[in-house]
Amino acid sequence: MNREELKKLEEKLIDEKKLIEANLKRFESELDFGDDIDHGEEEADEMEETESFLSIKENQDKRLKQIENALGKIRNGTYGICEECGGKIEREILEIDPESSLCKQCKIKGRK
Ligand SMILES: [Zn+2]
Repeated sequence: MNREELKKLEEKLIDEKKLIEANLKRFESELDFGDDIDHGEEEADEMEETESFLSIKENQDKRLKQIENALGKIRNGTYGICEECGGKIEREILEIDPESSLCKQCKIKGRK
């Protein structure tokens, strides 16, 4: 992978990171808002809503960590190397999923 391609992927990751951070901020403000509402008949709905917020938030947190991990690797020159087998991660994988830390083979293995 050449420098230009790497730069493009890095930009993609940074954009993604900003988007997720904005999402997380929004989730947090919506959750805060939920706390202000008086507890009453709608409590069950509120709980459900809060739970789904939390699971989305958890997902986004996880993604954010993967993205930060990938950005760190770009900086120290180990980007595109599979964490599992140490081989190169296929370009097609990085194009779809630039924060991926596993090659195609290890991804498939991991799914089993
Ligand atoms: Zn691998």
